[in-house]
Amino acid sequence: MSCDFAALAMQPVTGLTPYQPGKPIEELARELGLDPARIVKLASNENPLGPSPGALSAVQMALSESARYPDGNGFKLKQKLAARLGVEMAQITLGNGSNDVLDLVARAFLGPGRSAVFAQHAFAVYPISTQAVGAAARIAPAHDGSRGPRYGHDLAGMLARVAEDTSVVFIANPNNPTGSWVGADELEDFLEALPERVIAVLDEAYFEYAEGNDYPDTLPWLDRFPNLIITRTFSKAYGLAGFRVGYGISRPEVADLLNRVRQPFNVNSLALAAAEAALDDEAYLQSSREMNRAGLAQLTEAFRARGLAFIPSAGNFVTVDVGRDAGPVFDALLREGVIVRPLAGYALPDHLRVSVGTRAENGVFIEALDRVLTGA
Ligand SMILES: *Cc1c(COP(=O)(O)O)cnc(C)c1O
Repeated sequence: MSCDFAALAMQPVTGLTPYQPGKPIEELARELGLDPARIVKLASNENPLGPSPGALSAVQMALSESARYPDGNGFKLKQKLAARLGVEMAQITLGNGSNDVLDLVARAFLGPGRSAVFAQHAFAVYPISTQAVGAAARIAPAHDGSRGPRYGHDLAGMLARVAEDTSVVFIANPNNPTGSWVGADELEDFLEALPERVIAVLDEAYFEYAEGNDYPDTLPWLDRFPNLIITRTFSKAYGLAGFRVGYGISRPEVADLLNRVRQPFNVNSLALAAAEAALDDEAYLQSSREMNRAGLAQLTEAFRARGLAFIPSAGNFVTVDVGRDAGPVFDALLREGVIVRPLAGYALPDHLRVSVGTRAENGVFIEALDRVLTGA
């Protein structure tokens, strides 16, 4: 007789669906007998430049110290970040990716009898972290296009959903998978109206890409809004997704609470070394931005030329409406050796999210898409 483990687990956990990552290159190569070197993966918003050379040599140096525990307080990385951002070290919380920081927020501020507010089509980690701790999700429908950019966060709608039991609001700016963003004035108005007892998480995973377009500079707001937590990451523009390093910036009192629920060595020593070095590699960051700007233009021009609607993006990816059920299009692209991201799980069944690759990778994707959409 076997035990009913689902009955043993905490009830909210049994209702969870695991996060669906982009399909790994090796997995597709195995399944279809393809050469991994010929597969183009534009599915996880990874940096097409690969890691910065400076980060790689720092990791080489750090390898020999691997028998020791990492610095559990991440002193050197926090010191560098604090200097760079103009904040105190005590305002920074390091995470095993910024997803880890989002999870720390949930563990510190959410639980049974409480709720989190976030938007429809918002980043998948918000519902998972919320439900995992037994809190309720209050989901605000996205803009329908009449009062704001279609598919984008409707901040007024989100504010209206804040209830007595709400302790956290998650705002992805820009959001993944839509690429939509909220501007400075709108966000500032929202924060002014939000009760101070509600923690406002501004998830800025794509901050380094999202220049211009009225994109807000939120760090100075920490003085005025003590309930603010800004999260950023080394996974995207810094090209270190495999190392898993991200951080939160908040008032020291809030960081102190996050640190109480943090695992003692949540960021490993190689990741710390890589992130410290990456911060010094300005040239790499500049190249990341330039390659992204050019790649976004290449992809969106191709979509326009083909009459495919896409959601304007402030990130390193763009979400396109293929005008039909995107599931079979996704499958057909896989057979062409191109991995993108289907979005049925985000209630966007006709859309595919395409990460910006190198010029050549984007070209391979566009040609494969043409063959798939024309049935050639
Ligand atoms: C990629 C992403 C993250 C963070 O990823 P980490 O690798 O855990 O730092 C956070 N939020 C959004 C919206 C993202 O797209």
